[in-house]
Amino acid sequence: MAKWVYRFGGGTAEGRAADSALLGGKGANLAEMAALGLPVPPGMTIVTDVCGWYYGNGKTLPDDLRKQVLDGLAAMEEETGRTFGGDTRPLLLSVRSGARASMPGMMDTVLNLGLNDETVQALGHDAGDARFAWDTYRRFIQMYADVVMGVDHEIFEEILEDEKAQCGHEYDTEMSAVEWQHVVSRYKEMIEEEFGEVFPQDPHEQLWKAIGAVFASWMNPRAVTFRTLHNIPAEWGTAVSVQAMVFGNLGSTSATGVAFTRNPSTGEKSLYGEFLVNAQGEDVVAGIRTPQSITEEGRIATGGEKPSMEKLMPEAFAEFKAVCTTLEAHFRDMQDIEFTVERGKLFMLQTRNGKRTTRAAMKIAVDMVDEGVITHEDAICRIEPPSLDQLLHPTIDPKVQRRVIGSGLPASPGAASGEIVFSSEEAIAAEAEGRKVILVRTETSPEDIHGMHAAEGVLTTRGGMTSHAAVVARGMGIPCVVGAGSIRVDARNDKLLGVGGVVLKRGDIITLDGSAGQVLAGVVPMIQPELSGDFGRLMEWADKCRRMDVRTNADTPQDARAARAFGAEGIGLCRTEHMFFEGERIHVMREMILAEDEAGRRAALDKLLPMQRSDFIELFSIMSGLPVTIRLLDPPLHEFLPKTEAEIADVAEAMGMEPGFLARRIDAIHEFNPMMGHRGCRLAISYPEIAEMQARAIFEAADAAAAETGAPVALEIMVPLVGLRAELDYVKGVIDRVAASVAEETGNATAYLAGTMIELPRAALRAHVIAETAEFFSFGTNDLTQTTFGISRDDAATFIPTYQRKGIIEHDPFVSLDFEGVGELIQLAAERGRRTRSDLKLGICGEHGGDPASISFCEDAGLDYVSCSPFRVPIARLAAAQAAIRVRAST
Ligand code: PEP
Ligand code: MG
Repeated sequence: MAKWVYRFGGGTAEGRAADSALLGGKGANLAEMAALGLPVPPGMTIVTDVCGWYYGNGKTLPDDLRKQVLDGLAAMEEETGRTFGGDTRPLLLSVRSGARASMPGMMDTVLNLGLNDETVQALGHDAGDARFAWDTYRRFIQMYADVVMGVDHEIFEEILEDEKAQCGHEYDTEMSAVEWQHVVSRYKEMIEEEFGEVFPQDPHEQLWKAIGAVFASWMNPRAVTFRTLHNIPAEWGTAVSVQAMVFGNLGSTSATGVAFTRNPSTGEKSLYGEFLVNAQGEDVVAGIRTPQSITEEGRIATGGEKPSMEKLMPEAFAEFKAVCTTLEAHFRDMQDIEFTVERGKLFMLQTRNGKRTTRAAMKIAVDMVDEGVITHEDAICRIEPPSLDQLLHPTIDPKVQRRVIGSGLPASPGAASGEIVFSSEEAIAAEAEGRKVILVRTETSPEDIHGMHAAEGVLTTRGGMTSHAAVVARGMGIPCVVGAGSIRVDARNDKLLGVGGVVLKRGDIITLDGSAGQVLAGVVPMIQPELSGDFGRLMEWADKCRRMDVRTNADTPQDARAARAFGAEGIGLCRTEHMFFEGERIHVMREMILAEDEAGRRAALDKLLPMQRSDFIELFSIMSGLPVTIRLLDPPLHEFLPKTEAEIADVAEAMGMEPGFLARRIDAIHEFNPMMGHRGCRLAISYPEIAEMQARAIFEAADAAAAETGAPVALEIMVPLVGLRAELDYVKGVIDRVAASVAEETGNATAYLAGTMIELPRAALRAHVIAETAEFFSFGTNDLTQTTFGISRDDAATFIPTYQRKGIIEHDPFVSLDFEGVGELIQLAAERGRRTRSDLKLGICGEHGGDPASISFCEDAGLDYVSCSPFRVPIARLAAAQAAIRVRAST
């Protein structure tokens, strides 16, 4: 016979905290508390398997469950000396849901079950308090009718309000026994009228129906949505705990409350909680009465006028405090606790690891290490890496009411407010005047780089997580929301149209929440980042634990400095094309692209050389001695050229060229599919003089920087978009020749590695051959995802969300690595590459290099380092440490 029911109470229990898959979090911890000898009212937990049975068998319950529940009830009766449905000392029950993962408030609960027209009399007699009994009965009818019978909660509220008004009362606590009794009659009449059914009087019928209703609540829409948001599998199911009621509404020596063993928002080690005298749990949640602070310290801090529990019920408080200490020491984590005091006697109703802010999580973890409660490794594993974002950027004050006018993808974290501008030129002009702006565009292109620099944040209505705006904003560390399809930009009329008919003009203020992907109207108060001592200590421990290095993707001195401050151990990707948009360079770059022959190109390249060289000197100096990977020019050249007629006319004038001629040249280099066209190493093969100039700038800069800092540059030169070994051989030939001539000119030979990105499935498949030339591989997983799926990274946002909604894919593969497809190519390339060259250095520099799940995959694939945008460096450090700890624990 299957064991469906696990009992607890009287100092023993059939399960433990570790059994949460079977007993749900609540049931497992009730068992654990009972076994610890804490004052837990006796009860039983119906296991989560019954939930599966319920849904697999036409929403019915197993036959043999009944006997096991009745046996459990008998044990509870014995333990309490009460009888379920009895006419002297009636036993009342709470029937509560509890899944393996906490889903607060998502499922249903029925309290005070077992009351009917007779037991209510017995309850009143037994307690010597008829008022209490009728108050409890009306609570039961309200909850049962809502959860089991589907009666709208509001109808009861209306009756109650009407009754209070008629009696001249403001508060529920002023109601007398007779008045409550009248409310009960009206409730029952209403149920009969509306539903044609009398309120069930048989306690056993009540119990079975309540158990069924709690299982049914696993599939209610809010629970389903919560599970989708938190990746909780539907198969887990909920358990149902049936427990003897204890009463916080038994007069002035009774109370109910919730507490955290430490402050969940700051992490301070002080008991933090609230309680209500003469009340039941739902009164605290309902917010009808203002709860009082548990401790004197809390009361003083909040300016509370009503006495604390510490003052009002000193004995129960002292016991409660001791229980909190026991629980925290036992679970080795901050606890979130529910309790009731019945006529001075304390009962524990729930405990679980408490939710907390990142700041609090950090402090609690570090404090608990200092207290000797947990290890460094435990502390590292307790912080969710993405949550570090909250500490690195200004964030919106959580107390603030948000007026959301649109939402999109959370492309770059942090929050910023500013005036709306619709062009990069306006952004630059505004910055010069000291005004803060948000750049709003349909999408951005490399030409917007200055405007993005000048802006506090960037909003686009198109594009995905690897769109230009997203990648560049993350690199800069400014908040960015992309693909906000619910917002329409009417730049021609200087207008932005938000949801709900909101119309904003150029100059109006908006705020971006780049962590939530929201656009808010107006200025919103922020909290500034503070990298406190706890943060530093935890990161230090993480660094000691991890195997992989963490580098950064940085193209500017500003990025490189920020990344070093965040602990980057080198540059894993410098996208040199970003350097060609600075200041006057774009004009020279255009000259080069538009030149009709090699001589013309070389003339322009000669002007670019000193600019590149000085950039590299600065980068090398900032990274002094750390590895720096410079990638040769990658994007298709048309990205540098003007698009609209007006832009073409402007550029033609600046370059002293006929607009018609310029338009024809642009037309001549137009491609149908530039992402798969003349880009990457293909450019260096068509125009080797570009690679020559870049290589010269790199080697001359390395020589100069080494002389300046005294540390040789750990140089790595990377060739993009290689599919054939011959392509790499060709470009490496150019690099090697330039290296030799610079060495001859300077008298110093700079050591360097030449390697390639793995961005094409063919490169992954032929890795063993490519590794004959390549000294390192860096997985460019943005392109590798694009080319493996055949999904354009710039257009993915138009349908990936639909795919997710329809369950075709679980997550966006441009955000978190597709382990099965792209991941297999990575594993295969790593193995094949190392078969040829055992010391082949392996890294990742796509956006996935900052995603914790992808980082965990990289640990398993044996990569040497991950590289990500500067603000994700701490996240990657922590995620890499967690991955290394996981691997160590499993071997
Ligand atoms: C990549 O493709 O993953 C990559 C890092 O290069 P980019 O994003 O510049 O194409
Ligand atoms: Mg790429």
